[in-house]
Amino acid sequence: MTGKFNCITLCCIQKPNVVEDMATNGHTIDDAINGLKKLLSEKHDLQVVAAEKIKQLTAELEATKSDGFNPVQRIREGFDRFKKEKYETNPTLYGELAKGQSPKFLVFACSDSRVCPSHILDFQPGEAFVVRNIANMVPPYDTIKHSGAGAAIEYAVLHLKVENIVVIGHSCCGGIKGLMSIPDDGTTASDFIEQWVKIGLPAKSKVKADCSDLEYSDLCTQCEKEAVNVSLGNLLTYPFVREALVNKKLSLKGAHYDFVKGTFDLWNLDFGISPSLLS
Ligand SMILES: [Zn+2]
Repeated sequence: MTGKFNCITLCCIQKPNVVEDMATNGHTIDDAINGLKKLLSEKHDLQVVAAEKIKQLTAELEATKSDGFNPVQRIREGFDRFKKEKYETNPTLYGELAKGQSPKFLVFACSDSRVCPSHILDFQPGEAFVVRNIANMVPPYDTIKHSGAGAAIEYAVLHLKVENIVVIGHSCCGGIKGLMSIPDDGTTASDFIEQWVKIGLPAKSKVKADCSDLEYSDLCTQCEKEAVNVSLGNLLTYPFVREALVNKKLSLKGAHYDFVKGTFDLWNLDFGISPSLLS
């Protein structure tokens, strides 16, 4: 039986309520639309340019098709396969999941397409609440910056009551290479990436100080692991994480998946936490 596959086209953009900080930094949707209008009014020949661009994109699309790859077909077939082989063969599991979730794990993993934690650890639906970002970073507690990570940790710990948080680094991590490549004066060339991976700066400093004799690729490997430890340390800056640890409701684990060697290292960190220090 073929699964139902819906292809939805988004035909309008909903304008969000503009919050104060968005209004002041010039990055609202209104700003973007006004910028586009300005560009259109300045570029009288833009329609010609746009027509050429569309022609070019269509040609590229056709070329892509000649490679035999059709993204919609790929997605449709993937969902059909999942529905036929998994969803429809396991009504008990999916029936339970329809009522709610009770995962044992909160996992931080890199966005890298090679390191999907559900794939490499065989997590079944409902087993792991997963956050994926560049270089699997856990930022320190901050209600203004990086609040997406904070919201996920808060929800997983306080509402889902996960029993384990696992931060998984991996081999050949581009985000860690980016961190290692930031010049010593801290200047950055990207809009977001380097500011984000700077969360791991303490790991970079430690690795450069402790392992100065290593080659660059080995330094990166060390940094991939040390950055996991920095993230584990950052988890302690969240009061609800500290409380769950002290109450022995939660454990923190670090891991490193090496997809070149096919290995997975897992470690516990003993922070030497004394309840009196955290109260
Ligand atoms: Zn990565």
